[in-house]
Amino acid sequence: MNHPLYIAGPCSAESLEQLRATASQLREISFTYFRAGVWKPRTRPGTFEGHGEKALPWLNEIQHEFGYKIAIEVASSQHVESALKAGIDAFWIGARSVTNPFTVQEIAESLKGVNIPIFIKNPVNPDLKLWIGAVERIENATSSTIHAIHRGFSVYEKFRYRNDPNWQIALDFKIERPDIKLICDPSHMGGRRAYLLELSQIAMDLHFDGLHLEVHHDPSIAWTDAEQQVNGIQLQQLISAIRLKDRNDNTTEQILELRKEIDNLDEKVLTILIERMKIAQKIGTIKSAQNSTIYQAKRWLELKERNVENAKRLGLSEELVIQLLKLIHQEAIRIQASYVQQEDKNEITSGKFS
Ligand code: PEP
Ligand code: MN
Repeated sequence: MNHPLYIAGPCSAESLEQLRATASQLREISFTYFRAGVWKPRTRPGTFEGHGEKALPWLNEIQHEFGYKIAIEVASSQHVESALKAGIDAFWIGARSVTNPFTVQEIAESLKGVNIPIFIKNPVNPDLKLWIGAVERIENATSSTIHAIHRGFSVYEKFRYRNDPNWQIALDFKIERPDIKLICDPSHMGGRRAYLLELSQIAMDLHFDGLHLEVHHDPSIAWTDAEQQVNGIQLQQLISAIRLKDRNDNTTEQILELRKEIDNLDEKVLTILIERMKIAQKIGTIKSAQNSTIYQAKRWLELKERNVENAKRLGLSEELVIQLLKLIHQEAIRIQASYVQQEDKNEITSGKFS
């Protein structure tokens, strides 16, 4: 069982005393990087935007006093330059910066020839390509080790968590870049300490490589992100409550047998889908002859309603059934549309309109 990589520390570096107090609560915990925000990207002006360069010597104190490796956020070439000069051990690029390729490129340029671990958070919008693009920009500039951090995606409407985890994007990231370690940030994802355990557990169950957790010696007085931070004792409790899973692929005979059954069923599903598409195509020819529209909202609503009822009766997830049917129905519409377009083209080229 690989031990997960932990990044722990306060949202912001508020003062040397606060950093010291937090660092000393972490003495018993085995983590890789002590994090602290020095330049804070805030959503609205007029809030604490970090102490900037002034905080770097405080972090040097923590390095020397506790022997911790320090990670901070960089959002410009100026930040990179100052942080390198101060001997900071690792950088992360925040979600807001990753959204902007110019910013990522600027950071990449300033990292040329530098070898320092870089953590790249997902962009605030659910865009896998943008996230991977940021990784590639940094990769093109330096041979530094790159890690990714999944912190969820901004939402407009009120939601259980501060950010939508949209785990699928993180899993797709893993598929595209299995070579890059993926860390989960349940602090920014959940936005409240009450959600840390459930999100951390999901991340471990999904085979993430580590966790990024915000820790403050006294979260009640934290200047930023107070609701999501925990103190050192709470962090220790959290870490011991997380059930770590065996990361080896323990495929037993029994699993292989069951997978065979699943494979057979998948094949049946595909065969049935082909049958369904053939019928949709037949309907397409009739719609074309009748000159009626392909998409008929009433039909879709009826179909959805009936199947949601079926899903309930059969004990299947409503969400699954709706998403599945949406895909199937869209494909049927696409098949019908391409038939009708072909027919229209034939009419035009056969001179019917000349
Ligand atoms: C942070 O980690 O301090 C931070 C600002 O996070 P994010 O970029 O994920 O919002
Ligand atoms: Mn924070």
